[in-house]
Amino acid sequence: MNTMMRKGVGMTKHVKVTVSRIPECDFCDAPAKYDGKTKFGPWANMCGRCFVRHGIGLGLGRGQELVLAVAGIDRPR
Ligand SMILES: [Zn+2]
Repeated sequence: MNTMMRKGVGMTKHVKVTVSRIPECDFCDAPAKYDGKTKFGPWANMCGRCFVRHGIGLGLGRGQELVLAVAGIDRPR
């Protein structure tokens, strides 16, 4: 996958994804807060604590924050 190189991006782009249900952390039983790439290679659902320990950061191709969709707001009528 080729991504365009951008110059002058100082801050990590915070990527969020809206989900209808928060999955469990793949490392413990806590509710996951992030879906991201781990230091081991594969992607995983991670809670905040496990993301700090195993994740490689947020951004395109790295990880995204899971945001719970509020029922009735994100659904098209
Ligand atoms: Zn965890």
